[in-house]
Formats: sequence, C-alpha cells, structure tokens
Amino acid sequence: MVGAVFYLLNATTPGKIALCEWAGRCQILRVPKPGKTDPPMSVSERDLKTLKMALRKFAAERDWDKFHSPKNLAMALIGETAEIVEHFQWLTEAQSKRLSAAKKQEIQEEIGDTLIYLVRLADKLNVDLTEAAFIKLEKNRQKYPAQLVKGKAHKYTHYQK
Ligand SMILES: [Mg+2]
Repeated sequence: MVGAVFYLLNATTPGKIALCEWAGRCQILRVPKPGKTDPPMSVSERDLKTLKMALRKFAAERDWDKFHSPKNLAMALIGETAEIVEHFQWLTEAQSKRLSAAKKQEIQEEIGDTLIYLVRLADKLNVDLTEAAFIKLEKNRQKYPAQLVKGKAHKYTHYQK
C-alpha cells in the first residue's frame, strides 16, 4: 500500500496509544510518562521491525507524522546520506581507510540517521526493507554473473555489447 494513512486512537489504556492504518492494522504504543525514558532494548530486539515501530512511536509522540510524507522522508534521507559523504570529501582512498575513532563515531551517527529515514520511508511506502534488498540482490546476481564480472567494475550494460 502506497502512502498508508495512520490515525491515532487515544481512548486506550492510559499511557498507551494505538497507531492504526486505515486498512485496520493497529500497533499499541506505550507513551512514557513525562520525565521518564524507555528502558533500553536488548540486542535481540534491535531489528528492523523494532526500529520501524520505535520510529512510529517517536514521530507520534511529537506529532511529527504529519511531516513524514514520502517526499519529505526521501529528501531527509538524501540529506543524511550526504552527511556521510561529507566526512570523506577530499580524503584519499588510503585516508578513507584509516579513520580516527572520533571520525568513525561521527560517521556512525550519520549512518544511524540515514537508516532511520530509510526505515521510515519504507514504512510509509509499505516496503519490507529486507525483502526488497534480497529481491534486488537476486536481480544483481543475474545481471552480474560472478564468472563474468569477477574483479571488474563495469556496469552490466558493458557486458551486453
Ligand atoms: Mg545527520
């Protein structure tokens, strides 16, 4: 479903809200009390689905969902991606492989920002990120047979000549 519309039901248990799609799927989100923060997630919880739901909650708590159109999310995504690139601008190949711990930390933050907007965009477009990536990987396997392209960096159209 493209451009899923969400609405909030506040008439649930105090401290909780329901974020529902018009199609009917609902997710109960817990709203922390003022001044309280969520307990840290275990590593096993830190998957893409959990991230997707955490981002829905983050946006709902701030009434920011209204700003999260696919267009705006796509623009934010490319902005954050550019912030990754900015760290590498003017570095040599060798320098880009020898980053300081502080520089890696800064890049990690931009990678986090980028993933956040990618997950949010995929959520709005009802795209399963992992499925989309595996489908594309299979297409790439067919476009770039290993025995044909090994060690070469040509675009697939090069091999069609
Ligand atoms: Mg950033």
